[in-house]
Amino acid sequence: MSTAFVACPDCGGQFPAVDGPTHAYVGGSAGCWAAFGELGGRELQLGILGPDRLSVHAYMAQHPGDRGRRQAQSVGIHLMVLCAVLERSVSVADAVAAMPAWLDGRPDVPWLTAPTEPYAATIQTLPATGDRPALESAVRLWAEGVWTGWSAHHGTIRRWLDLGAIG
Ligand SMILES: [Zn+2]
Repeated sequence: MSTAFVACPDCGGQFPAVDGPTHAYVGGSAGCWAAFGELGGRELQLGILGPDRLSVHAYMAQHPGDRGRRQAQSVGIHLMVLCAVLERSVSVADAVAAMPAWLDGRPDVPWLTAPTEPYAATIQTLPATGDRPALESAVRLWAEGVWTGWSAHHGTIRRWLDLGAIG
C-alpha cells in the first residue's frame, strides 16, 4: 500500500496524509505539523533549545493559517524576529526576549497577506541527519527563504522594528 501525500496549504511541502493534530491557529497540514514536532525533538537532542530555535520563527512565519487576530499577531511577531536576526544580527534569544514588548498593548495587528510564490525552502529542505552546525545552517537558509518570500512586507516589518513595536 502506498502512502498518500498531500501538499501543506501554507508552505507547499508534500507530507504523508496523516490524521493528526494541528495547531489552534498556526496553519499547515497535520503532516507538516508532525514534521515540525519531529524537528523540535531533533533540536532538543542536539542542544538547540527554546529561545535559540530559529526554526520556530521560520515555521510560524511560513504558516500564517486563516486570517484572524491571533494569526495576525503570530505572523507579525515572527517576521519581526526573522528580520531582527537575519538583517540586524540580533541573536535569536535576544529577539525572543523582545517579543512581549513588541506586542504590548497591541491586540489588533494588521493582517499581512502571505506570499503566493513558492518558497525557496520548507521544513522538508532540512537534512534528515547531521550534526548541530549542519542543521543550524540549513535552518538559517530556510529562514532566509521564508523572509525573502515575504519581501512585499519587508518595509512594514522594518518599520515595526524601528518603532520597537508592532502595528
Ligand atoms: Zn507546511
